[in-house]
Amino acid sequence: MEQVLLLNITYEPLKIINWKKALNLFFLGKVEVIEEYDKEIHAVSFVLKLPSVVRLLKMVRKPNNLVKFSRQNIYARDRYQCQYCGNKFQPEELTYDHVMPKSRGGRTEWENIVTCCVDCNRKKGGRTPPEAAMRMIRKPTRPTWIPALKITIGFQRVPETWRDYLYWNVELLE
Ligand SMILES: [Zn+2]
Repeated sequence: MEQVLLLNITYEPLKIINWKKALNLFFLGKVEVIEEYDKEIHAVSFVLKLPSVVRLLKMVRKPNNLVKFSRQNIYARDRYQCQYCGNKFQPEELTYDHVMPKSRGGRTEWENIVTCCVDCNRKKGGRTPPEAAMRMIRKPTRPTWIPALKITIGFQRVPETWRDYLYWNVELLE
């Protein structure tokens, strides 16, 4: 399945969508095609090159809100690293921790959730980091990049046509 990089009107990468969704947006007049793959799509009434990068024609405001608050994205933001002991883990060995415990009014939001290993999570219990004498590696913040995009790029070969647009806010993984 060919994937398409969706850019905001500012050329900022927003997310990766599948080609059917990209064509749908194109036919609705919502995007313009910026880059194409060599592959062609043959339909009854047209032949088109498969888009590889499309750009929205209207500004999507607050692009940061498009960063889905999900377990996967929290782990990606924290680089699969427990924010207390600093060790890296496989996703199935990780959980997330409310810095200010939920039982004490801590909210489930980017700024109060960190990636945490099972051991540290148990050790910390219902306490704040100072109470548990545990130091956090990084203060949790709302990501300004698209974690899922980073994950995809980490696991796949980036199409050549995407490269010019990715410098924007994506750290390429080696
Ligand atoms: Zn840990």
